[in-house]
Amino acid sequence: MCEIENQLAELVSKVEKHLGRIAKGNDTDGREYTSLSEMWATVGILEPPVAPKAGTTRKRVAELVDGATDETASVPAWYTQAYAYWEAEGNCPPTIDGVLGGFGHVSGTDIAGSRRFLEGRVKPLLSAMRLEKAADCGAGIGRVTKLLLLPIFASVDLLEPSPRLLAAAPSFMFGQEGHRAARMEAEVLLSEGGKEEKLREQTVVGMRGREEPDGKAEGADPRAGSLPTRQQQGIKAPPEARVRYLCLGMQDFQPASGVVYDVVWIQWCIGHLHDLDLVRFLVRIRAALRPETGAVIVKDNCCDASADFVVDTGDSSLTRSPAYLKALFEIAGYDLRVEERQQGFPAELFPVIMFCFTAKKEASQSGEGGGR
Ligand code: SAH
Repeated sequence: MCEIENQLAELVSKVEKHLGRIAKGNDTDGREYTSLSEMWATVGILEPPVAPKAGTTRKRVAELVDGATDETASVPAWYTQAYAYWEAEGNCPPTIDGVLGGFGHVSGTDIAGSRRFLEGRVKPLLSAMRLEKAADCGAGIGRVTKLLLLPIFASVDLLEPSPRLLAAAPSFMFGQEGHRAARMEAEVLLSEGGKEEKLREQTVVGMRGREEPDGKAEGADPRAGSLPTRQQQGIKAPPEARVRYLCLGMQDFQPASGVVYDVVWIQWCIGHLHDLDLVRFLVRIRAALRPETGAVIVKDNCCDASADFVVDTGDSSLTRSPAYLKALFEIAGYDLRVEERQQGFPAELFPVIMFCFTAKKEASQSGEGGGR
C-alpha cells in the first residue's frame, strides 16, 4: 500500500475504535458494506489513485488560481466524479433549487434555523466571539453567504470548487434571485411569529442589497439579538466588496497565512471529503481559527440509527452518522460544543444536524498532520 492508503487505513481503525464497532453502511445502488475499509476500497480511495481526465478539478483550478495546485498530481475518481457532477448544469442549475437538489423551498427554514443556532446556541457559549471573518465551504452559488453570513460577518471567504457555480455566485448574491431568497427567509420568520414590521423592513433592506447612503448597514438585522449589527460594528463597505472568491475544494484549501476565521461554515458538502482529507483539512483550518472563540459549524444530513454511512454514488459523497462525524472531529483536535437538529424539514429528508466545534486547547499546537 502507498503512504496515503496506509494513513487512511490507520484512520479508519481509529474511527472504528471511537465508534466501538466496525462501521457498516450502504450505497444508493443498494450495495451493503461491512466495513469502512471495504467502502473506501470500493470507491477507489484505498487503491492507487487514477490519472485525472482532462478538465478535472486540479487542472481547472490551476487555470483559475495562481499556484494553487500541481497539475501533474493525480486526483482520485472520487473527486473527479463529484466535480463532474456539480459542473453539469443538468444536475445543478445555478439556483437555490439546484444547489438544494430540488428542495429549494426549505431554504428559508434552513437559514432561519442556522441564524437561531448561531445566535441562540453558539454566541452564548462563545460570548467573546468576534464577527470579522467567516469562510463558507462548498458554497455553491453563495446561498449561505448571502443569507446568513454576510449580514453578520464583516467579510466572507467563499470557497467552491465548481467554476461554473462560483461564476454564478456574484449575480445570485447581488442580483434578483438573491433578493427573492431574502424575501423567502423573511416570510418563514414571519410565519414563525417574528415582529412583522421589523421583518418587512429587513426584507426590503435585504432586497436593496447595498449600503444606505447614510451609512445604515445593509441587512442591519433586527433579529440579530445578541449579535451586533454591522452598523454597530462600524462596517461601511457594501456586501459586494466583502466577499473573496476561492475556486477550491476543501481538500485543496490552505488558509493564507495571517488569515483568521471567526466561523468556518461547512454546509451540505462535508461528505465529499474522504476521511483522511477531511481530518487534514480540519487540522489546517484549526490553525486558522481565532484562538479561544473561533468555531467550525457543520450543518449536514446525517444517517439515522440504521447505518453508520450511506454512499451517494451519483455525486460521490458520503452521509455519515453523527458518531462517525464526531469521531473525525475528535481525531482532528476539536471539542464538540453544541449539537442541534434542524426542525421543520420534510420527513423524507435525512435528519439535518448542526454541530459547533472549537479547537481543543491542548491540540492548538499539535494533532494529526494537516498536509495535503
Ligand atoms: N453549501 C451550499 C451548497 C450545497 S451543494 C448551500 O448550502 O447552499 C454542495 C456543494 O458542494 C456544491 O456547490 C459542490 O460543488 C460543493 N462541493 C463538491 N465537492 C466539494 C469539495 N471537495 N470541497 C468543497 N465543496 C465541494
